[in-house]
Amino acid sequence: MPEIILKKGREKSLIRHHPWIFSGSVARISGSPISGETINILSDEGQFLARAAYSPFSKIVARVWTWEEKQEVNNSYFYEKITKAIEMRKSFRDQDYSYTAIRLLHGESDGLPGVILDQYNDICVIQFLTTGAEFWRDLIIEIVNSVRTPRAIFERSDSDVRKLEGLEQRIGLLSGIMNENEIIIKEFDLKYIVDIANGHKTGFYIDQRENRKRIRNLTRNCRVLDCFSYTGGFALNALAGGASSLTLVDSSGLALSIASRNVTLNNLDAQNIQYYTQDVFQFLRGQRDRGEVYDIVILDPPKFAPTILQVERASRGYKDINLLALKLLNPGGILVTFSCSGGVSDDLFQKILAGAALDAGVAAMILERLHQGFDHPIAMNFPESAYLKGFIIKKM
Ligand code: SAH
Repeated sequence: MPEIILKKGREKSLIRHHPWIFSGSVARISGSPISGETINILSDEGQFLARAAYSPFSKIVARVWTWEEKQEVNNSYFYEKITKAIEMRKSFRDQDYSYTAIRLLHGESDGLPGVILDQYNDICVIQFLTTGAEFWRDLIIEIVNSVRTPRAIFERSDSDVRKLEGLEQRIGLLSGIMNENEIIIKEFDLKYIVDIANGHKTGFYIDQRENRKRIRNLTRNCRVLDCFSYTGGFALNALAGGASSLTLVDSSGLALSIASRNVTLNNLDAQNIQYYTQDVFQFLRGQRDRGEVYDIVILDPPKFAPTILQVERASRGYKDINLLALKLLNPGGILVTFSCSGGVSDDLFQKILAGAALDAGVAAMILERLHQGFDHPIAMNFPESAYLKGFIIKKM
């Protein structure tokens, strides 16, 4: 088996079971591994550290499958990882199956770097995001088919991260029958249209399921502003909770048109709803200048900092929108705000929010912290997997 031999002293993170090996830590590579091939990782003294997938073009030159020298990376390895991940969710999921969209495989957190599997009703949507995932794709598809027996498996390997791995984008039906582009999922007592082929990520932001439900009992008789609303995940809950008026803002007109169809689909009152296809930064400034006020503002922006490199710019972006949102709130109003940037920690996000409140000249308190759902677990050895942070904040 080909080998990566690390520079002296660079084995520390691997000993703590962090799953990434950066190119800067590599002393030399022996053999001529192909993209995605399984290789051994050794310390400079020749000690076995891990078995990993080789990624020749990425700064992350290898991602660990296993730290056990005896463990082979083969069919039974993948079968075991996949069935374990699915079993974990079965035992933790509410038994009345009150939602029909769930993440079944969450990359590194399930010991499968680069493999994302979401199930929507009887359809599985899969992403292969790294060379290692791509190398084993046929086997992984076969195992998913045999353990889930979905009606269809659809591939959405069109994330930008594939470019960093030197992989082309791939979208399309892998197996089974799927004539429709859109399906209707259930999330507690609301229904959502999900466009599997064209929607963001695999079609829906499954990670916000519990947080969407959480805002339900905050919105009675409130004027609610839902920014970055996508297909109305939070907005529908605000309406179901009795919001007196609702404003949705998103740069995607397509997402907002689905949001509007979702309102109808759920027989919710569409009378006091406004949709703005606009940049949120601009929209918030405009509303501030017009002196508009709200009782609840929701901010669920896309990743401003995909990696640690963009943190400074991202911090300014987060501060900007949160400052404006706090200004637009009535006294006693509530801000529900998120960051899904892996590079921005809970602590940093809290500091940014404190800075925003200070600069806005408002006193505020944190009522609750929110996180990603259990089906997007956080691996203890991979803190980067705690990517979604949220705060419910009250303006005094
Ligand atoms: N809250 C949603 C998910 C939001 S995802 C849910 O629960 O389903 C982030 C959304 O922000 C996407 O729909 C994207 O189209 C939108 N977006 C990204 N940048 C934007 C910007 N600058 N202004 C407005 N919308 C933006």
